[in-house]
Amino acid sequence: MSESPAPVVDRVLVVGGGITGGVLSLALAQRGVEVVLVDLRASLGGVGHGITLQGNALKAFRSVGIYDRLAERGYPFSHLRLRTADGHVIAEIPTPPMGGPDLPGTMGAVRGDIADILAEEVVAAGVDVRLGTTLTAIDDRGGSVVVTLSDGTTETVDLLVGADGIRSKVRGMIGIDAEPRPVGMGIWRTVAKRPPEMDCSELYYGGPKYKAGYTPISEDLCYAFLLEENLDRSFVGEGPNGAVLKERGQGYGGTWGDVRDSLAEDAVVNYQWIESICVDSPWHRGRSIIIGDAAHACPPLIAQGAAMCAEDAVVLAEMLTSGEHASVEEVLPAFMARRFPRVKMVLDNSLTLADWEIHPDTPGADPGRIMGQTLHALVEPA
Ligand SMILES: Cc1cc2nc3c(=O)[nH]c(=O)nc-3n(C[C@H](O)[C@H](O)[C@H](O)COP(=O)(O)OP(=O)(O)OC[C@H]3O[C@@H](n4cnc5c(N)ncnc54)[C@H](O)[C@@H]3O)c2cc1C
Repeated sequence: MSESPAPVVDRVLVVGGGITGGVLSLALAQRGVEVVLVDLRASLGGVGHGITLQGNALKAFRSVGIYDRLAERGYPFSHLRLRTADGHVIAEIPTPPMGGPDLPGTMGAVRGDIADILAEEVVAAGVDVRLGTTLTAIDDRGGSVVVTLSDGTTETVDLLVGADGIRSKVRGMIGIDAEPRPVGMGIWRTVAKRPPEMDCSELYYGGPKYKAGYTPISEDLCYAFLLEENLDRSFVGEGPNGAVLKERGQGYGGTWGDVRDSLAEDAVVNYQWIESICVDSPWHRGRSIIIGDAAHACPPLIAQGAAMCAEDAVVLAEMLTSGEHASVEEVLPAFMARRFPRVKMVLDNSLTLADWEIHPDTPGADPGRIMGQTLHALVEPA
């Protein structure tokens, strides 16, 4: 009788319960690994905003069993349309089957739905979730890591994973010296009513700002955005609202203009600078590793950030438990070697797109081509 493959970890501490840490915790728990998940927030559930999930993100979600629940609420589609600022169609790009032939190319979703589903499934899978908690010290003893938590307790684990986002604390604590940097553009985002004719993500180029666009995220809702230069906080105000976005978004027609005009003056609007980070030296030190946005975060211009995060999580869980590797020390460099070329390609292409959107007269600038190329390259499994 053949024995089941031996995981190289029995117990793992995950810092951060966003998409990366949530999917990783779930994937590990489903493979019989004990997981402690700590997060600074008081609840893992989410609020508001929309997100565009490409097929490879959906494939990762399906592998941990949360796709069906998400699909009940999200809005699937399989193409991307580019328009001029006044609404005329420039091109329609079919989204390739990045998650395989039986998943939609793309799905719009409410971020809060992903967070809520992950939070419930993580608990149901037996993950030990500690909220309002962070780590204060890491003692790597070679055969294990002893982590001190902010509640004064210690955890002895086989692996520490920092999935604590672009401003990762774990990154600095394990001696990785990298900080996010502004890309040179800011994004306005809001959730609005979905007009019936909106059937996929659309991007409007050539208007007074860098770009406008939207994604349908449910039967009833869409997520609209506007990209422009980095604005000073004093200009934006502490609570940007529909009135401000209506003013900033003048000069766009078509459905985007209709969505803008439909916004209530006091609609909830978010504005933030876009940042990126790429840790190109090893993501690991001893028995600790950073993954997801903590290691690589791209500007959201190809809508691949969360997909790269979810892929990281699924691939790491698989490599730690498949029995193909003899030790944690063997898995961590092999994991980075497998993931880095893919995340770097997405990051570099997203940064090129950002540059072209800021400088649209750049010779050879062709956003549709680079988006298409990137998505086609991602049909290759993670
Ligand atoms: C404006 C914008 C739009 C985007 N749109 C898309 C899109 O359409 N499609 C897409 O695929 N991607 C998109 N992305 C990217 C995507 O949102 C991120 O890549 C992804 O959410 C990152 O997930 P994460 O879990 O790695 O980090 P985070 O979501 O940042 O989660 C980190 C978690 O760690 C916790 N934490 C932080 N510090 C600590 C600490 N010291 N101790 C304990 N816990 C801690 C936080 O509370 C949080 O729960 C977008 C990003 C931005 C900025």
